[in-house]
Amino acid sequence: MSGFDSGDIRRLVVKVGSSLLIGADGAVDVDWLAGLADDIAGLVSRERQVLVVSSGAIALGSAVLGINKRRARLEDLQAAAAAGQVRLAQAWQSALDAHGIITAQVLLTPGDTEDRRRFLNARATLERLLARGVVPVVNENDTVATEEIRYGDNDRLAARVAQLVMADGLLLLSDVDGLYSADPGTDAEARHIPVVRGISEETLAMAGETRSDIGSGGMRTKVLAARIATHAGCTTVVASGKVCRPITKLDAGARCTLFRPEGSPAAARKQWLAGALSVAGRLHVDDGAVRALREGRSLLPVGVVGADGEFRRGDVVSVHAADGREVARGLAEYGRDEAEAIAGCRSEDIEARLGYRGSPVVLHRDDMVVFDNDG
Ligand code: GLU
Repeated sequence: MSGFDSGDIRRLVVKVGSSLLIGADGAVDVDWLAGLADDIAGLVSRERQVLVVSSGAIALGSAVLGINKRRARLEDLQAAAAAGQVRLAQAWQSALDAHGIITAQVLLTPGDTEDRRRFLNARATLERLLARGVVPVVNENDTVATEEIRYGDNDRLAARVAQLVMADGLLLLSDVDGLYSADPGTDAEARHIPVVRGISEETLAMAGETRSDIGSGGMRTKVLAARIATHAGCTTVVASGKVCRPITKLDAGARCTLFRPEGSPAAARKQWLAGALSVAGRLHVDDGAVRALREGRSLLPVGVVGADGEFRRGDVVSVHAADGREVARGLAEYGRDEAEAIAGCRSEDIEARLGYRGSPVVLHRDDMVVFDNDG
């Protein structure tokens, strides 16, 4: 037993591949999806937050448009994704409608999670949806993604989404029930691995290069995704989705592979910030702000007395007390000009100063590391 219990997870990303969701007839397997929707609704009713990363746009669209996926060019696949995404989103909404749950379609490209400005925007949207009890249904924005820049597989996208929202759980539903020491299809000696601590080259080698027919990911992409997510402090589980109500089955002890996280999501984010090599600018703050930061609060504009350097929203900035000491470091919610314009003002007055309603904070506490340099 790996000891996975969905009840332990506060915020879970569930990744669903095309081969689970789409039947041989090229249509959504609505019975299977209804079972998963029951599981998700069960989590939501216990106040857990759930995000879905769902593939299937290309498979659905290819069937509708009569495109042969294997021989199709990139433009055809993108056209298929455009036609299929509507159906995919519709299928999720109607499955969760049965439980009174609202879904929201979120299409991301790698730039949205790798570029820090867009990262803040994507995260703010997802947070807003989650706070309203919505289940975001995320996919790659296949119609604009080109071969070089696309995530290529939704396992990685799911790991990036988990990192983005600081999820503490990532469930990769697969057509196998986890990682084996060798390919179980060809090697009778293959052993199932219930728990992985630290993902080494050896772990990756076990995953091999397996590929299923419909989806683009294999076990290797799942282990690579697990590496991203566990480094971000997120427990990652690879389990079989080839059953009805897979999360219920897991809670009842179904076989899976659990990749243990390295620290918590908050600790991982802070470690990354503390080690950020390029600090684009500085914020100078008053004593009240220093106290607030030490108490774990966000930096409000009222505590900012000045800014220097050339920084934009999403850049890493250092925060300095009146005596010049660096007290914190974080991701700026505002660029330098805006930060200067709102310095000293109350959050309610930001709109009057800037002409638009931006973030109420200059640095969010989740995106900040406060240094312990009192002595
Ligand atoms: N984004 C693709 C789709 O929805 C799937 C990518 C994948 O399967 O990993 O069809």
